[in-house]
Amino acid sequence: MENKLDNCIFCKIAAGQIPSKLIHEDEDLIAFHDINPAAPVHVLIVPREHIATLADCGERHAALLGKMMLLAPKLAQQLGCGYDAEAGAGGFKSLFNTGPDGGQEVYHLHLHVIGGPRPWRGQR
Ligand code: 5GP
Ligand code: ZN
Repeated sequence: MENKLDNCIFCKIAAGQIPSKLIHEDEDLIAFHDINPAAPVHVLIVPREHIATLADCGERHAALLGKMMLLAPKLAQQLGCGYDAEAGAGGFKSLFNTGPDGGQEVYHLHLHVIGGPRPWRGQR
């Protein structure tokens, strides 16, 4: 498994070398609160494997990507911003930023899960 401990902040978080507010940990993924939240709930789902961007993923990453996406609604539920279909209430964004024009700042794959009662920063 490729690991960029020298220069990648999310590899260092995954290795426990930099502290974070962890909310989930398993053999493939970690999730922690974003240091600069854009909304009442803002967490990042991060694979332990160093993959720079979504555009670097291939077929061999399909299960990992599926696992990341399936974790998003579970964490949202756990953090109080799950989607309640019956009430037509709640909900969250799930977002991958890719490359400079995609607004990516950390080049280790991550899925943002952003939610909580509106308004948020810059959102209605
Ligand atoms: P990107 O723009 O790459 O999609 O998002 C990177 C996210 O990582 C940003 O929302 C930023 O606030 C968050 N972030 C950057 N450095 C750290 C850190 O050291 N700890 C935590 N918890 N979040 C970080
Ligand atoms: Zn990394």
